[in-house]
Amino acid sequence: MDFRKGKLLHDGKTKRLYATPSEDRLIAAFKDEARFYDAGDPAVVKNRGRYAAAVSTALFRLLENYHIPTHFVHPYKANEVIVQKLEMFSISAVIWNFASSHFSKRYGTEKGTLLEAPIIEWYWKNPKQHHPMISTDHAITFSLAKENELAEMAHTAKKANAVLKSFFERRSLVLADFRLEFGRCERGIVIGDELTLDTCRLWSTVNGQIDTNRFRFDRAHIQQSYVELFEKIGVQS
Ligand code: ADP
Repeated sequence: MDFRKGKLLHDGKTKRLYATPSEDRLIAAFKDEARFYDAGDPAVVKNRGRYAAAVSTALFRLLENYHIPTHFVHPYKANEVIVQKLEMFSISAVIWNFASSHFSKRYGTEKGTLLEAPIIEWYWKNPKQHHPMISTDHAITFSLAKENELAEMAHTAKKANAVLKSFFERRSLVLADFRLEFGRCERGIVIGDELTLDTCRLWSTVNGQIDTNRFRFDRAHIQQSYVELFEKIGVQS
C-alpha cells in the first residue's frame, strides 16, 4: 500500500495529520513538542516524536488484542503511524484512578488518593472556552454526542482503563489518569488520537508503595522523565 504523504490536514500542538492516497488512511506524525498535563507551555523533548509513535503503537496494539477498537493501523516511519481517518467527537475523556493535579485542586482530594472506582470526566474540545469540563447533559444539549454514544465511549474507556492499568502494573507503574479521544468510522465508535506519555500520567511503585514524584514532568525534568519512563515501559522505538 502506498502511504506517500499527501496534503497536511491538521497541524496540531503535538502532531501533524497528513492525507494519504488511500481515502480512509492518515499519517499521524508526532512532533518533538510535548504537552504533558503539568508541563505548562509546550516543552521540546528530544526524540519525543519517536517515543510517542512507539508508545502509541504498543498501547493501541494492546487494546486491539483485547478487542477494544482503535484507529491504529500500523507503524510507519520512526515518528509516524498510519491511522484510520475518523470523524472526531469534540470531546475528550479523562479517566481518573487516583486523585492528583486539577482533580485534587477541584475536590480537595489529596494527590495520590486511590479513588473507590475510576471516574470519567468529559471535556469539550473548545479552545475559545478553554476546554471546559462538561456533563453528559451538556454534551447532548450542545450536540457534541448522543446519549448512547457517550454510554459507548464510557464503556470503552473503562475497558481500556482495565487493560492499560494491568499493563503498567506489570512494569511497576501506576496509571494515575489518562486522556482519550474518540471518533466515528464505519466500524462504529473507536479510540483515536494518541496514547502516549503525554496523555497517561504514570507513577512509580517500589515495594507496593506509590511514589507520585518519581517522574517529574516540569520543564527541568521532562527530558529525563521521558527517557526513564520509556525505558521502563520497554517498547521498541
Ligand atoms: P490539537 O489539535 O489540540 O493541537 P494534536 O496536536 O493532538 O492536538 O492534533 C491532533 C488532532 O487530530 C486532534 O484535533 C485530534 O482530534 C485529531 N485526530 C486524532 N486522530 C484522528 C483520526 N484518526 N482522524 C481524524 N482526526 C484525528
